Amino acid sequence: MKRRNKKNENKVIVIIMMILIVALVAGGYFYQQYMKKKELENRLNVTLKEDLKVQINEEYVLSSFVKEIRNGELLNSEEIVDTSKLGEQDVTLKLKNKDGIEEEYKFKIEVIDNEKPVIEAKKEISSYVGSDVDLLKDVKVTDNSKEDIKAKVIGEYDKNKAGKYELKLEAQDSSGNKEEYDFILNIVSDPNNRTFTTSKGFSGKVVNGVTYIDGVLIANKTYSLPSSYAPGLLSSIQNAFNKLKDDASASGYNLYIGSGYRSYWDQKIIYNNYVSWDGQANADTYSARPGHSEHQSGLAIDVCDRNEAACISSAFDNTVQAKWINDNCYKYGLIIRYPKNKSNITGYIYESWHLRYVGVELATKLYNNGDWITLEEYYGIDSKYS
Ligand SMILES: [Zn+2]
Repeated sequence: MKRRNKKNENKVIVIIMMILIVALVAGGYFYQQYMKKKELENRLNVTLKEDLKVQINEEYVLSSFVKEIRNGELLNSEEIVDTSKLGEQDVTLKLKNKDGIEEEYKFKIEVIDNEKPVIEAKKEISSYVGSDVDLLKDVKVTDNSKEDIKAKVIGEYDKNKAGKYELKLEAQDSSGNKEEYDFILNIVSDPNNRTFTTSKGFSGKVVNGVTYIDGVLIANKTYSLPSSYAPGLLSSIQNAFNKLKDDASASGYNLYIGSGYRSYWDQKIIYNNYVSWDGQANADTYSARPGHSEHQSGLAIDVCDRNEAACISSAFDNTVQAKWINDNCYKYGLIIRYPKNKSNITGYIYESWHLRYVGVELATKLYNNGDWITLEEYYGIDSKYS
């Protein structure tokens, strides 16, 4: 009986021992788990933002990629990330944990480019017919990639044909981002170099600002001469006048050129003087504005007679010399440029003394057996200031 009791006692001790061991192991395990959790909770922890894509060459500070930092602080939050190259880029965060120990945290961002280039250009470019135009001259293309991007012109135009052409500029960066820009090329005829047809069907052309109709230089209130046009008195009219003068002397007249070639600047002084003492409206009926005087063409003269007091004035109109000139000048290629009763056409009062050289053939037509036709009527053109 005693022995049996002893056996039972041993059994109980073993069971208790086993329970204690299990309890110790389990306690140790849970303690370990607890400590691990505790440690984890206190450890430095970085959470990054989801989108780690950035535009090339844009400025980003390191802190912009961080969503949350626990148990520590970011030391280089204001550091700027290198975004100068496309593709993946290594980034390092410098951190300090709760215990003051520094750590690094590395991750990658992706540098991308999906922004279009920016085109700066004029909305409208003007050009003259026939002249070359550099459509890219004032075009500026900038892009976030900092690439040297050249724009190209899309569309067609004919530089020899006036018109408004709707064209496009196109610029593309190496990532394939493309921008377009609409502009207008306005090709107009050059007022100083153009051709035209008169109302009577004559072909006119303007060469460096000088107008010719059917080859005859025209200077009136509509058609001007450039201030730089300064040919002096041309030999054609000088020779014509010399012959006229010789023949007139046979009739007892003593003709001379009272006023021949006048430069733009001479005319400016003369015209301004007339305006100042007679007013512009009156001056415009007998004196040409600078650039509009036929005297500047080198093809016009004012004729006077040494035996006649009236010179370059309406008092000359009724002289015998004026009658002789009127009846004979066409034979020398000269015309009465501003005939009687034509002031509404020529823009000037009758000037019996003002002769213009046009050649014998045309002068004879315009003489019209004494019923003068003006250059304006003959060619079908105006003489009016614009
Ligand atoms: Zn004159």
